[in-house]
Amino acid sequence: MGYYPSLLMDLIRNICRLPGIGEKTAERLAMHILNAPRGEAEQLSRNILKVKDRIKLCSICSAFSDGEICDICRDRTRVSTLLCVVEQPADMVAIEKSGSYKGLYHILQGVLSPMNGIGPDKIRIRELISRLKDNKVKEVVLATGTNVEGEATASYIAQRLKDRPVKVTRIASGVPVGGDLKYVDQVTLRKAMETRHDV
Ligand SMILES: [Zn+2]
Repeated sequence: MGYYPSLLMDLIRNICRLPGIGEKTAERLAMHILNAPRGEAEQLSRNILKVKDRIKLCSICSAFSDGEICDICRDRTRVSTLLCVVEQPADMVAIEKSGSYKGLYHILQGVLSPMNGIGPDKIRIRELISRLKDNKVKEVVLATGTNVEGEATASYIAQRLKDRPVKVTRIASGVPVGGDLKYVDQVTLRKAMETRHDV
């Protein structure tokens, strides 16, 4: 790594900190940026700052949004009686890509994990309950992961909702046990959504 001028080294180190990027890839990406037209490099750096400054969480579902309310929550053609609960924004994106779901979402921004001190008050369960207060939602689809924490979170929410006038279903079939939704292929995810079952 010491073969490069320190300015270039700084960039390589920055890129190296990104998840999944090793030293060799960081060097290759830094070289690409160095050799790219100035406009391309400017656009990249500008977009990084824009994302940092302007992307926030939707005040309704907690998805990433460039406004107060995200595109999905604003979309009147979505089925507003159907609410899918996921752990992270990436899970919502995975379900959207599968094309199997036309309802709304609620993003927990985490998962119950007593071992790591993450209890129900640390994820957006209170917000979920308050979204159900007007009884407009008729079905809650629990689409948390199929690992231990995802299952525990789904059971906890099902328990909390059992006295409410809402059907609670769980995606399961097809999603491998221990599966993280965002790594499940789209066909599998579509099947899992279509064959969701009551809990
Ligand atoms: Zn939203």
